[in-house]
Amino acid sequence: MKAILDPGHAVPPGTPPDANRDANRDANRDANRDIRPDATPHTPPGAPPNATGDATPDVQPDAIPHPQPHPQPDAPPGAPPDAPRGAPPGAPPDAQARRDIPPVICYPVDTLPQPDMALYLRARAGATLLASQTVPPRQARTIHVPAGHILRLICTTGPQVGDLNLFNAADLSERFFSGKTRALHGTHVTTGDRLWSCLPYLRPMATIIHDSLDWYGIDAFGGSVHDVIGTRCDPYTHRLLSGDDYHHCCHSNLTRALADATGLPQHVAERHVHDVLNVFMCTGFTRDTGQYFMKASPVRPGDHLDLLAEIDLLAVLSACPGGDCGAEHSSDAARCHALEMQVLAPAPGALDGWTSPPHSPYRIEADGSQYRSTDCA
Ligand SMILES: [Zn+2]
Repeated sequence: MKAILDPGHAVPPGTPPDANRDANRDANRDANRDIRPDATPHTPPGAPPNATGDATPDVQPDAIPHPQPHPQPDAPPGAPPDAPRGAPPGAPPDAQARRDIPPVICYPVDTLPQPDMALYLRARAGATLLASQTVPPRQARTIHVPAGHILRLICTTGPQVGDLNLFNAADLSERFFSGKTRALHGTHVTTGDRLWSCLPYLRPMATIIHDSLDWYGIDAFGGSVHDVIGTRCDPYTHRLLSGDDYHHCCHSNLTRALADATGLPQHVAERHVHDVLNVFMCTGFTRDTGQYFMKASPVRPGDHLDLLAEIDLLAVLSACPGGDCGAEHSSDAARCHALEMQVLAPAPGALDGWTSPPHSPYRIEADGSQYRSTDCA
């Protein structure tokens, strides 16, 4: 979950000298005119000084933005006589009152079990390199990460986005659950957030213990890095939209790499490929149309994301054909770079007392009855 930054005012420790340029360099691009932030952002009452109030996935209770009323031109044809001026056709008289209802957080996380970050950071401090794997441009590779080890994903030679799949190394049916991770931690993840497995398992597969891009926060467009909203570029959507075929989309790369690692035929391996963590990708939603957007990643060589494996993992990473995803994907047009995966082993004894988390205790029994954790006694 990312903090909201007002570029140029709130500069967190570790911010690179060109952070403000990177966060705002698209502001003058004509191509992005549809996703420019409001010229005069509204700051809601009670919001902290650096809150713009117009990009708040990480909502504080006293900083929830009040919906801005629609422009109020003359009532359109077809609007009921008592509808507010400017209300769209068919809007009820109390349309604005309904819009003004404040939101509530779907999944409050106060009761979410928290990782022992101090323990994890001590383990990271003494960790040593155990294995590494280079992911060539427009390809994917796999690596095994034993529970309690660290998976480091590194930008090595130039700005590059990676699409990550995670599996339980012993059971491909337990895989990363992008949607629930998003519901719990927000649209973009960073240090302290966890990557959850699918139902019926629902346990942390990995915990993010270091993110060298955590200074980025949420930019003036509402963009941030490491999203769990995009799915992965794939040849089916590309065919749908362009009529062309492209064979190095992340979906295809992940499929081939998983097939190579498991011995499964590609058409079987494909069924296991799932929505990804978009490592280093900078994305958001346009304010006016709610569309998913991307912009050039702020990642630079040396940046990395460290994940503590909570269970034995098979990680699959694709170096996206979109490169830094500043222009387009699903083609050979973008300049692409390799990525590096490393497995780091904590110093002996560093994680003494730590154990992998169990599956969710809830389940549906074979007879159709529901088992609940309260039934254990
Ligand atoms: Zn991709």
